[in-house]
Amino acid sequence: MGEKYLTFIGYLYFSICPQNDFRKRFLTISRLISPEKLPKTGFFNPLFVIRCRKLWEIRWIPGSGLQAAVSVIISCMVDDLLTQKPIPDDVRTEADVYWMNLALAQAAQAAALGEVPVGAVAVLHDAVIGVGFNRKEADLDPMAHAEMIALRAAATAVQNWRLIGVTLYCTLEPCPMCAGAMIQARLPRLVYGAKDTRFGADGSVVQVLRAPEFNHRVAITSGVLEQEAAALLQQFFQNLREKRGKAEKRDL
Ligand SMILES: [Zn+2]
Repeated sequence: MGEKYLTFIGYLYFSICPQNDFRKRFLTISRLISPEKLPKTGFFNPLFVIRCRKLWEIRWIPGSGLQAAVSVIISCMVDDLLTQKPIPDDVRTEADVYWMNLALAQAAQAAALGEVPVGAVAVLHDAVIGVGFNRKEADLDPMAHAEMIALRAAATAVQNWRLIGVTLYCTLEPCPMCAGAMIQARLPRLVYGAKDTRFGADGSVVQVLRAPEFNHRVAITSGVLEQEAAALLQQFFQNLREKRGKAEKRDL
């Protein structure tokens, strides 16, 4: 089996596997075999995977060469496919609070620049792969929402528009645009803080994220550090009103 073919199998696996131990194992093996040949975009052929499952059920034997490497890659693929379960909603972990604090720090940066304080952090394998805060005023860009910036940074980091295994932490319920971007990115999980009664797309105004008609469903946990996120927004708008009040008094 040629190296090209092996890379192709790696390519398949790389594009579909969830982020877990199997993926790490695969990456280690694939780097040993053809480090510079891993492609940067995704591709998936389910028939190929099913056919391989019947032919290869061999486990990794150290030192047995190329064939064993191929076997482990395919058995990893099969294991992953068989163990993939949808992530449930409303799961809360201690780590969620930790990452949400980072998202709040992003929101605080927005506030410092006079932007509406919303922050987002994309996390993969307990590592931040993308951050963003609202920059609509600075960039004169209606699409420069914290979530969009963080999603784009995450996709650049993994060199794949499909954000497999990524969790996005947002301080505020996403708007319909960002919710749409999350579905496009096949984001597995979203954790957000405060509800947004003006633009929220998780039921506050419309329900985009949980719409059953889409072919992808983002698992959602809401209300993580909700009060902190809401307080940041309230403080920002209160300061804004005070500033405007003072300006109006000066004008009189
Ligand atoms: Zn948005």
